[in-house]
Amino acid sequence: MKGVVVKSTGSWYLVRDAEGKLHRARLRGKFKIKGLKVSNPLAVGDRVEFDVETTGEDTAVIHKIEERENYIIRQSTHKTAYSHIIAANLDQALLIVTLVSPRTSFGFIDRFLVTAEAYDIPTILVFNKTDLYDEEMRDYQRQISHMYQQIGYSSITVSAKTNEGIEEMNSLLHGKTTLLSGHSGVGKSTLINLIVPDLELKTSEISDFSDKGVHTTTFAEMFEIDNETFIIDTPGIKELGIVDIPKSQLSHFFPEMRERMNQCRFNNCTHFNEPGCAIVEAVRHNEISLTRYESYLSMLMGDDNRK
Ligand code: GDP
Ligand code: ZN
Repeated sequence: MKGVVVKSTGSWYLVRDAEGKLHRARLRGKFKIKGLKVSNPLAVGDRVEFDVETTGEDTAVIHKIEERENYIIRQSTHKTAYSHIIAANLDQALLIVTLVSPRTSFGFIDRFLVTAEAYDIPTILVFNKTDLYDEEMRDYQRQISHMYQQIGYSSITVSAKTNEGIEEMNSLLHGKTTLLSGHSGVGKSTLINLIVPDLELKTSEISDFSDKGVHTTTFAEMFEIDNETFIIDTPGIKELGIVDIPKSQLSHFFPEMRERMNQCRFNNCTHFNEPGCAIVEAVRHNEISLTRYESYLSMLMGDDNRK
């Protein structure tokens, strides 16, 4: 049978088959990813083949993992240690942000976008808590959205309180597997409650299956909205671990820099203090947003250290 991993505890997996039935499964054999030291061979979102064993407990055995279209990992802070695959096969990410309580910083947004670029995951910004915005803030939000739109990131505005924009959010999700992310306090759980039907039931069903006394809080979970629509939540993971991007490569992950950097005088330009830099020139002429450039510099200098 074929299925998708919807939860992982490290030793047990919960696999959803094509009909939506859940199977408790374990992995047979050893699986390795070339060139990557990971602590877990299998993650939420992985597509697998499995056999259901008729004897004993309701247990399935996974014997094949399909090749991943993409995946996100959490890099260990120790160079020598293993990384952890958070989730696989994502169609897109929705980054939930707010202008108030608490205000999401540009630095946070841009670090997320850079990581998503590196993983090749299209990202949409979701401004939540719009019920708390006054006219001035609405205006400001439109400016920010416009700025991100210019460089290829679209955004929507929602309120989990008044339901503004929830329909639009649902239509963005439809037919896709979406990573929901955001700084804590932005309203991610509230939104998940709004968009996932029978969430409580599903959560208890999932934990009945897999929480055999195993600590699972840092693992991702996949929730079904309908048969072809899934969201992946990563409780306890505030921010995607930035993949190791060499400083000389960083600007490749800023679309507005990527498209201009071949105009720099030096082809190894870091766009900081080199003469003839097309990026600095574009910032001067307001063609590149100052906040984006500041995010770039702070990542380049390494002084943001995954705050
Ligand atoms: P999470 O940490 O991102 O999961 O955030 P929560 O969903 O726990 O929400 C944090 C707080 O923000 C809670 O008190 C929510 O009731 C509140 N909240 C969430 N969405 C909205 C919203 O759209 N408007 C307002 N006014 N409050 C919200
Ligand atoms: Zn340059």
